[in-house]
Amino acid sequence: MQTKLLINGALVAGEGRTEGILDPATGALIAQVAEASREQVDGAVAAAQAAFGGWSQTPPKERAALLLKLADRIESAGSDYAQLESRNTGKPLPAALNDEIPAIADVFRFFAGAARAQHGALAGEYLPGYTSMIRRDPVGVVASIAPWNYPLMMAAWKLAPALAAGNTVILKPSEQTPLTALKLGEDLRELFPPGVVNVICGRGESVGAPLVAHPRVRMVSVTGDVSTGQKVLSAAAGNLKRTHLELGGKAPVIVFDDADLESVVAGVRTFGFYNAGQDCTAACRLYAGPAVYDKLVADLTGAVKTLKVGIQTEPGIEMGPLISAEQRARVAGFVERAAAAPHIQVTTGGKVRAGGGFFYEPTVVAGTAQTDEIVQREVFGPVVSVTRFTDTEQAIAWANDSEYGLASSVWTRDVSKAMAVAARLQYGCTWINTHFTLVSEMPHGGFKRSGYGKDLSVYALEDYTVPRHVMVRFA
Ligand code: NAD
Repeated sequence: MQTKLLINGALVAGEGRTEGILDPATGALIAQVAEASREQVDGAVAAAQAAFGGWSQTPPKERAALLLKLADRIESAGSDYAQLESRNTGKPLPAALNDEIPAIADVFRFFAGAARAQHGALAGEYLPGYTSMIRRDPVGVVASIAPWNYPLMMAAWKLAPALAAGNTVILKPSEQTPLTALKLGEDLRELFPPGVVNVICGRGESVGAPLVAHPRVRMVSVTGDVSTGQKVLSAAAGNLKRTHLELGGKAPVIVFDDADLESVVAGVRTFGFYNAGQDCTAACRLYAGPAVYDKLVADLTGAVKTLKVGIQTEPGIEMGPLISAEQRARVAGFVERAAAAPHIQVTTGGKVRAGGGFFYEPTVVAGTAQTDEIVQREVFGPVVSVTRFTDTEQAIAWANDSEYGLASSVWTRDVSKAMAVAARLQYGCTWINTHFTLVSEMPHGGFKRSGYGKDLSVYALEDYTVPRHVMVRFA
């Protein structure tokens, strides 16, 4: 297994503390990864800085060609990448192989094309005797810090726009799930000039923090917890780095009385529990209309009971374990506190699953009130709450009454109502009669404490570039 860091075009052993990497489905140790020492962090930044001049001047066509080659490699080694990802995260192998690998390859291909087709304001004589034109240039050395829920996909979302735009990058995967990023290091080393992309591992405090604070790093992109975003912002203040923050979420799902209930139940069964609910857009906070509430709770409870939970390669598996014992204890704590309230019913699940690994049962919590902790806070696990609302105004107010602003959905057969409600929701994305579906062409990112960077789409390319004005005076 590839456990070396990629620094300046060479695969090198980490010189810092060693981290045990676990299989969450069994708790077994699958690898030991040594994190980067402080000198190696500095070395990666120095390499990225040295490579910036050449890479930023490389024509978009050539940068795009390398991104396309990378996409091909990921696709052709898709089975190896997916097995590694599934083992390290516990997610079902088919999800990694059939959902994630094609989406990851597509992200590299999208940005390969987008980098060659950027557009903006017209050049022109806005002052007589002068021609003004706009350039979009890369920011410089970018530190990209990824979470554990979709390790390779988050790496792709960060690397593809940054590299396409001409930046050089130091990628730091989560200390819990570094294996696919380390494997990617092999492909990156073969394809890209030394220093253009570096991959270093380690914990937030020991490797992430010095990387973020490094004076030569010009931009930091982080996907993670709100508290991590806050720490990164403080550290970035040192030399006023550009920041790109993708933080948590608590997606409201508004189900009106006229919704197609079968499709709501199927949607929440899938999108509330995908990746064991460890997804910042998970369909986890349901608001049900007064007439549909009872049937929705009954049907959803029945449907969630049929979810097949198990280890990565078990046939027909739909949900795996949580990432760690710690995360499971956190999820269990939320459900225990909710269950203790007299108005709340745990209609299915609500327990740690017997046996090895970090499994928690898929759980539905009904009868919740807007002020309940389980409605307000991000659980990041397989837990969905259902709250009854009385009218549209209340549904909108409750949906927006959140510290988060990443994703939301509205379910109704009335398109006018759906559009009117979508227009008033304060979320980076609103789906209508669906949830969770992403495409490379459209932006992903939030409002409020969910952060403000945009991943995917041309908006990400904008985030990783600086618009510049060049003015020529006629002689
Ligand atoms: P985390 O914040 O614990 O860690 C994320 C990354 O930040 C890791 O690589 C970690 O090592 C690093 N880090 C931690 N402290 C740091 C510091 N002081 N300086 C620099 N780097 C530091 O998050 P996690 O537990 O890995 O992921 C779960 C969280 O991520 C959830 O809250 C979830 O909602 C969020 N998330 C958001 C999105 C989104 O697109 N908005 C997507 C996925 C996950």
